[in-house]
Amino acid sequence: MINLNDIEIAQKNVMKPIEDIANEIGLKRTDIEPYGNFKAKINLPLDLPEKKDSKLILVTAISPTPAGEGKSTVTVGLGDAMHRLNKKVMIALREPSLGPVMGMKGGATGGGYSQVVPMEDINLHFTGDMHALTTANNTLAALIDNHIQQGNALKIDQRRIIWKRVLDINDRALRNVVVGLGGPMQGVPREDGFDITVASELMAILCLAKDIKDLKSRINDIVVAYNYDKKPITVSDLGVTGAISLLLKDAIKPNLVQTLEHTPAVIHGGPFANIAHGCNSVLATQTALQLGDYAITEAGFGADLGAEKFLDIKTPVLGKTPDTIVIVATIRALKMHGGVSKTDLELENVDALKVGFSNLKKHVENMQRYNIPVVVAINKFTADTNLEVQTLIDLSDEIGVSAVPADVWGQGGAGAIDLANKVIEKTSEVHEFKALYEADDSAETKIEKIVKTIYGGTNVEYAPKAKQQLRQFKELGWDKLLICMAKTQYSLSDNAKLLGAPTDFTIHIREFNPKLGSQFLVALTGNVLTMPGLPKVPAANHMDIDDNGVISGLY
Ligand code: ADP
Repeated sequence: MINLNDIEIAQKNVMKPIEDIANEIGLKRTDIEPYGNFKAKINLPLDLPEKKDSKLILVTAISPTPAGEGKSTVTVGLGDAMHRLNKKVMIALREPSLGPVMGMKGGATGGGYSQVVPMEDINLHFTGDMHALTTANNTLAALIDNHIQQGNALKIDQRRIIWKRVLDINDRALRNVVVGLGGPMQGVPREDGFDITVASELMAILCLAKDIKDLKSRINDIVVAYNYDKKPITVSDLGVTGAISLLLKDAIKPNLVQTLEHTPAVIHGGPFANIAHGCNSVLATQTALQLGDYAITEAGFGADLGAEKFLDIKTPVLGKTPDTIVIVATIRALKMHGGVSKTDLELENVDALKVGFSNLKKHVENMQRYNIPVVVAINKFTADTNLEVQTLIDLSDEIGVSAVPADVWGQGGAGAIDLANKVIEKTSEVHEFKALYEADDSAETKIEKIVKTIYGGTNVEYAPKAKQQLRQFKELGWDKLLICMAKTQYSLSDNAKLLGAPTDFTIHIREFNPKLGSQFLVALTGNVLTMPGLPKVPAANHMDIDDNGVISGLY
């Protein structure tokens, strides 16, 4: 049982200077730009010999429940365990967004004795990447409005501007706004709205770009609006690609930090896992692969969203597929999938666990479908009983997958030695990646393959608007782009209430958002919020800073 909370554990920890961490992984002083004593940007490209045999480990999870799964916590703990086993390991995580930090979810630096530090900095302003993205995004918005103000040579239809302003805060009051009020010198009035920064297409682009050249080319292609003839207007048409790109000159560099156990970690980029692909940057993962013999990274939400997108959207750019996939499951969450309410989770309930196992089983089958070795990590909570843990191990055995308990939250790396040994063993299994769809498949075929194979649905229904857009995409030559599904994370279906492994359901595609810079079409099912709101009692209400600058209330 731990008596300290996450931030207290982090504050008691003695970090190594970031130069020492860099030195340990073979980086020269000129390879890094320290931001203070414990964070640094990594200057790319690194002048290191090419390395082809590093192993990539992807950490994903069952469908999330309010009971919590702990992907980041397990990613960090697994990294620490491999570090203890004297492996050259690098962790690659996503950057937290201030919206969830101040709202409900809290930070994204792991928990208990499996954390990346300095957790306050990482969860707050870190190295300024979010601010740079916010500024770049809003510079583009200002340039669009200015173009209209100055005569609108491109004939941009003010009613068809899809580039929104952003802020890295959950602020529902800004979802829909009117800009340009106040007369002729204050701009042209029009309806606008704010998204959260991590939902900006620039964030997705930053995370997919291979270098500055690729970043610029993707920014060039962003569709920001349509003109009066309904033809797309891009950043290239506005002639501002250079300006938007240079604002990201530092943000494109991965950030180096450490775990509580001094394992090196790269933290970089964090796009939404619904309207974007939910993975840290290609550059961060590549850097981790270049610097370590093992790179452990994670993808957002459950495996139907984050891992599917990692495998179908990120790996083609990364040029490397995972050698092992770790699916994080908790007894608590599986019991919720089996019908137990949040208030009864502390009570042993093997029957509910058996029912809820259907969710884990489906995610295991899905990942095996890509022909990648799978390990289940049981993220142990203190209330889990031995019988429940053994039942989950046995159920997993029955479907041919090893489930290994890990107490990373309570013990750090020491609690995941068995898991680490199993994962290391799995990474040397010979396998050949089997893609879910072909790049050349039409949008409809790609969606059908995702829905039928990954979600377990029977049918896809398109709303009239989506059908009309598909026709338009064919004309524009956009119909072969990758597909990024925007779906609830709580269910394999598009109905958040259907837990476990539902069957016989239809997925309803309401609309598409074409993201030409990211090179995918976002297929919207249901209402996906791109600017979250704050809950009744936000996490912000429990935060403080004392007279000495010591922070409390972050988790
Ligand atoms: P995810 O990456 O799946 O969103 P996190 O790793 O960020 O989840 O964990 C979410 C929260 O749950 C964190 O505050 C963490 O401290 C807590 N947590 C994770 N694993 C455990 C555990 N085994 N026992 C208790 N709390 C945990």
